[in-house]
Amino acid sequence: NKQVVLKDYVTGFLKESDLDLVENTITLKLPEGSNEILLKNLYLSCDPFMRNLMSDIGILEKFLPYAPGSPLFGYGVAKVLESGHPDYKKGDLVWGFTKWEEYSLVPSSRILFKIEHTDVPLSYYTGILGMPGMTAYAGFFEVGLPKKGEKVFVSAASGAVGQLVGQFAKLTGCYVVGSAGSKDKNKFGFDDAFNYKEEPDLDAALKRYFPEGIDIYFENVGGKTLDAVLLNMRVHGRIVVCGMISQYNRAQPEGVTNLGNLIMKRIRMQGLAVTDYYPMYHKLVEYVVPKIKEEKIVYVEDIAEGLENGPAALVGLFNGRNVGKQVLVLARE
Ligand code: NDP
Repeated sequence: NKQVVLKDYVTGFLKESDLDLVENTITLKLPEGSNEILLKNLYLSCDPFMRNLMSDIGILEKFLPYAPGSPLFGYGVAKVLESGHPDYKKGDLVWGFTKWEEYSLVPSSRILFKIEHTDVPLSYYTGILGMPGMTAYAGFFEVGLPKKGEKVFVSAASGAVGQLVGQFAKLTGCYVVGSAGSKDKNKFGFDDAFNYKEEPDLDAALKRYFPEGIDIYFENVGGKTLDAVLLNMRVHGRIVVCGMISQYNRAQPEGVTNLGNLIMKRIRMQGLAVTDYYPMYHKLVEYVVPKIKEEKIVYVEDIAEGLENGPAALVGLFNGRNVGKQVLVLARE
C-alpha cells in the first residue's frame, strides 16, 4: 500500500521534499466487528487547506494537523471494498475524507457521501460535485447573496472554486471579472479577466474593470489583492472570505491596511467554512448536474497520475502550476 506521508512540520513555502512516498503492507480485510469502511482510493483531491494542516498548530477548526510519518488525509473519490456500516456496501462509490494511499480504512463518522450520479466524470466529485463545488455554491449564493446585474470580482479565478464562482455569477446575470496568474488561465467565459502578476498597481487595475465599484468580492487569495479590493468596494458590498492562499506559506500575515473601508461603505465581510453547508449538498447536485449535462457549465481539471506525482501536484497549487481543479488519479475503477 503506497502512501504519501508528511516528513515533518513545515515552515515557509511547501516543497516536494517535505513529503515522502513510502510503502506499507495492509490486509485488505475489515477487522472482526469493525464499523469502519475499507476503501480503494480512485481520485485524490489536491486542496490548499492541506498546507494549513502541515503546521504544528491547529489552524483549522475540526481538523487536527497531520502527524509526521503518517499519510496525508484529505478529500477523494473511492470504491467501497468492505463495509462495517449499514449505510455503505461493497461496490458503492463514495466521495469524502480519505487518505493519500492506495487503500484506506476510514471511520464511517467522517465526511462521506454516496455517489448517485455516475453519468458524469467520477473525478468531478473532487471538484464541481465535491468540496470545492459546495464551497463555490454556498459561498456565492448563501453568503454573497447575489442579485442580477451586480458586479462580481473573483480571485484565483481559474481554480477549483474560482472557475465555478465566475460561472455561477454569469448564470445569475452578474458582470464578473476574474484575476489569475497567467493569461492562458482565462478561459471560463467571464466578462473579463486579468493577470495580477502583470499589474503593478492592483487598485488601478480594479478601477479599470470596475469603474463603478464591486458589489461582491469572492476572496480566495488575501493579502495585497484584498487590500486593493477594499478601496474598490461599493456601499453595502459583500466580501465572501473563502480563502487566503497567498498567506498559507507565510510565517507572518501580510498587512492589510484598508479595512477602514468596511465602515463607511457598510461592507459585509463574512467568512465561510464549507463543512457548515454539507447538509445542503443535494442543492448543489440539483443545480449543477443538469447544467453539466446541458454544457451550461464547463469544469476544467488538471490531472496528475499516480501517488508518486502527488507531492508535485500539491506544491503546484502554491505557485499556480495547476490550470483548473488539481486531481490526482490513482485508479479509474
Ligand atoms: P485553486 O484550484 O484555485 O488553486 C490555487 C490557486 O491559487 C493557484 O492555482 C494559483 O493560481 C493561486 N495562488 C497560489 N498562490 C497565490 C498567491 N500567493 N497569490 C495569489 N494567488 C495565488 O484552489 P481552490 O480553488 O481549491 O481554493 C481556492 C481558495 O479557496 C483557497 O484559498 C482555499 O483555501 C479556499 N477554500 C476554502 C474553503 C472554505 O471552506 N472556506 C473550502 C475550499 C477552498 P494563480 O495562477 O491565479 O496564481
